Amino acid sequence: MLDALALNLAGIPMDIISWRKAVTLWALGRAEILASYEDRFIHSPRLTLAMPSVVQCLDVRSMPRNFTHVLPLTRRNLYGRDGGLCVYCGQKISLSSFTIDHVIPRSQGGKTSWDNVVTACMHCNNRKGNRRPRPGEIDMLHEPFVPRLTHAAPRNLVEKLSFRAPPMAWSTYIYWSVALPPKPHANPVRAGHHGGHAPTHRLSYDSPVI
Ligand SMILES: [Zn+2]
Repeated sequence: MLDALALNLAGIPMDIISWRKAVTLWALGRAEILASYEDRFIHSPRLTLAMPSVVQCLDVRSMPRNFTHVLPLTRRNLYGRDGGLCVYCGQKISLSSFTIDHVIPRSQGGKTSWDNVVTACMHCNNRKGNRRPRPGEIDMLHEPFVPRLTHAAPRNLVEKLSFRAPPMAWSTYIYWSVALPPKPHANPVRAGHHGGHAPTHRLSYDSPVI
């Protein structure tokens, strides 16, 4: 399902809506289409329309109040952040069965926060156990990091984003402050900060996270 980003009259992103709703608002004269998915079209007996990706609602003057720039830490979002992989062995894991590993164990004061939890398969989680490995002892695909937007956006919108790269057309309005993790990889790599591009970094558990 392709969604559209809905802006208010002032051009502030307000919500993520379905393309059907975006088309309906446009057909009613209540929204203007600012950008469309170039390769998706809607056909009706009377017209063919590129599927809208950004619309501006012409009758929404209100400003959102509750802004945030951090994605809520939920099981699904954590799974998305870590690319559906065990960050220790790189094996594909399912949303229903993955385990959450506290890099610094809870028994040692580790918090359940974006910068201290990663997805792990049962085997690796058991292997690591309730201990804090020495720096360099265990490779990770990437360090845990906080998924942040560069600019705060309405909380309801951020909560709908889940952990995904927004469509290109949204990048004028919404973008992450860190690179998203690489797509699932056949073999584990030693990734650097931010799930980044230089696979040279071996995680130090004592180094500060983002
Ligand atoms: Zn594993």
